[in-house]
Amino acid sequence: AKEQGKNVFQFYAREMNASVEEKLVLLEGLRNALDCGQFSLLYQPKVDLRSGRIFGVEALIRWQHPEHGMVSPARFIALAEESGLIIPIGDWVLQTACLQARAWSDAGLPQVTMSVNVSPRQFEEKRLVERVAQALSDSGLPAHALEIEVTEGIIMRDLAQSVGKMSELKAMGVTLSIDDFGTGYSSLSALKSFPISTLKIDKSFVSDLADSADDQAIALAVISLGHRLNLRVLAEGVETEQQRRFLLENDCDEMQGYLFSRPVPAAEMQTMLLAQAQA
Ligand code: C2E
Ligand code: CA
Ligand code: CA
Ligand code: CA
Repeated sequence: AKEQGKNVFQFYAREMNASVEEKLVLLEGLRNALDCGQFSLLYQPKVDLRSGRIFGVEALIRWQHPEHGMVSPARFIALAEESGLIIPIGDWVLQTACLQARAWSDAGLPQVTMSVNVSPRQFEEKRLVERVAQALSDSGLPAHALEIEVTEGIIMRDLAQSVGKMSELKAMGVTLSIDDFGTGYSSLSALKSFPISTLKIDKSFVSDLADSADDQAIALAVISLGHRLNLRVLAEGVETEQQRRFLLENDCDEMQGYLFSRPVPAAEMQTMLLAQAQA
């Protein structure tokens, strides 16, 4: 019984340490990932609901870990935030996305907007605006072709400073959108002061759109709020034809989701853009 008790203890000890240990291993890997070229970007089209045309793409990071395989950003972005590694990683994303957008237009494709996600620590960092300007000048991408996605939570941390920073970006010509709208807690009066062009309805409200009266009410409210404020409204996570039809019938402007396309590598995205240009 004593032996068994010891084994049980070891078992629990191992279980308890599993997540901490895993985190340390991931963190160690994350430190080398940039130098080892383990990051890549996928691109997901943003589509105009009425015309069905691609008008932009969102860059989404992927990490190919040598032992763990593909690690989802849901797992490592928070870790990158905590450790501060998000600053160099975020810079890499900005630079790579801008270069890619420029490469597509150099290849003769019509310019699409490149959207890049910026997380809290990145947004708060003093030199964000400089970093964005640098990525634009290094790539030669016009500022109006870059969009930055931020969440309400980021902005509300320090409202005055956030609005100031967003205004600087807007003055450069960069557009801004609010990601995951409806999951945060920005007051409606604050929303009015954000220099943004688009609200993105969080995919959690889209997934049950066909069946949930509550989610329909939320989607309708966001669409009408956005339009009253002269904003475009994009629904993310659109997976079914029913969802698409509901959104179109209720005057939503844009969509993104598996129904149209999953996030894809640059070459595949380029093929889609070329097909559209030739249609
Ligand atoms: P997000 O910005 O809200 O991105 C949308 C997420 O939904 C992406 O997950 C995308 O692949 C996924 N998605 C797209 N269409 C559908 C759909 O129809 N159904 C469902 N179920 N999911 C869909 P992903 O790529 O795993 O990214 C997760 C989150 O990680 C992102 O959420 C974003 O917050 C963060 N992230 C991704 N890339 C970056 C990055 O380069 N920098 C920063 N700071 N954060 C990033
Ligand atoms: Ca996003
Ligand atoms: Ca989102
Ligand atoms: Ca999200």
